[in-house]
Amino acid sequence: MSHIFPRHTRNLPPVAVSGMGCYLTDASGKQYLDASGGAAVSCLGHGDRTVIEAVKAQLDQLAYAHTGFFTSEPAETLADLLIQHAPGDLDRVYLVSGGSEAMEAALKLARQYFVEKGEPARGRIIARKQSYHGNTMGALSAGGNEWRRAQFGPLLIDMSHIDPCYDYRLRHDGETPEAYGLRAANLLEEELLRIGPETVMAFAAEPVVGATAGAVPPAPGYFKRIREICDQYGILLILDEVMCGMGRTGTLFACEQDGVAPDILCIAKGLGAGYQPIGAMLCSRQIYAAIENGSGFFQHGHTYLGHPTAAAAGVAVVNAVLERGLIPKVREQGGKLMQALDSAFGQHPHIGDIRGRGLFQGIEIVADRESKAPFDPARRIAAKVKSAAFDAGLICYPMSGTIDGKTGDHVLLAPPFIISDAQIDELVGKLSKAVEIALA
Ligand code: PLP
Repeated sequence: MSHIFPRHTRNLPPVAVSGMGCYLTDASGKQYLDASGGAAVSCLGHGDRTVIEAVKAQLDQLAYAHTGFFTSEPAETLADLLIQHAPGDLDRVYLVSGGSEAMEAALKLARQYFVEKGEPARGRIIARKQSYHGNTMGALSAGGNEWRRAQFGPLLIDMSHIDPCYDYRLRHDGETPEAYGLRAANLLEEELLRIGPETVMAFAAEPVVGATAGAVPPAPGYFKRIREICDQYGILLILDEVMCGMGRTGTLFACEQDGVAPDILCIAKGLGAGYQPIGAMLCSRQIYAAIENGSGFFQHGHTYLGHPTAAAAGVAVVNAVLERGLIPKVREQGGKLMQALDSAFGQHPHIGDIRGRGLFQGIEIVADRESKAPFDPARRIAAKVKSAAFDAGLICYPMSGTIDGKTGDHVLLAPPFIISDAQIDELVGKLSKAVEIALA
């Protein structure tokens, strides 16, 4: 009898006992190819000795010191390392314990920034439908996935949600990707004008939408136009790279590929690679200056901010990603994965779209390829793919509600950056079988 409160009370998971490279092993000895790195976490794979030794050495030196009293050497090093590579004017790092905490800090910092600047009327956030920003109240309010939000409606903060940039479903026939990118971005301006730009503090978005949409990249020019609109109306751009950041899409920061820099950027997952729980909110020099020259105090905080052991893991992970040439490897293996998915599913009658960047890819499952009609949610296609894949020894990240939180199914793939060619074949082979079982 377990006393753990599990995710699903009727579907209890096996006990994981060890991990090595791209594989996890359960208590019965069964091996699983970890093709989603959990939830896009395990970018270095499992059992990385360098990171493990760095964590152990930090524990021997100093496990924890509260940031109300101290800073620490690993926290300072990690902040320097991130800022050395961060885009635009990002200059300060607020270290937290995960993605939701990073988003909460981002939302509160945006608000305090405008209060300190003497613009207290700015209190609204605009975000996007079908995004996921976390499960705490602020992050869930910013998220646009109806299924996750529904029962918590009375608790959520009122925010606007514009349509996502979702080429496969929302680009019109005959419209170029560039024209679509512009049209999709202009929805932000429409919403600003509808609610009054002087009441808005920020726009929040995932550069490549992960869990809730299945690796949906933006159309060309989308984020450039978003940046322009934010600047024109004096609102902040918050980019949530919790899932798509830290090399996952083939650049250290996902937004580099869109030629924009945010005012606030959130990362987590691949920052600790699963070796420690860690996330971070990075903000621009200007935002920091407003606090520094104002109250001098960001009215926020958690017990485990800047945790030295977590920061030491972050330093070791970021150094490993940079020094082992893993970012070019993500691009190379990402190309191979895309090709393999294309050979397996490119002509499949029930795979409507194959998409993504780097080692962050998704397939969208449809009832009918021509009309793009989704399966009836009652068929629980995503859940069936997940369980058939797991039975076959493959961990992937299927999810339903792709289109609107209720209908649509996709499978998200986010394997470790060290995935080999043979493991790509294993992944696609097992996934093909799982899809056939789910559709049968
Ligand atoms: N933001 C994005 C884009 C995510 O994918 C997630 C988690 O999946 C979060 C935020 C929340 O992160 P966490 O689960 O670490 O709180």
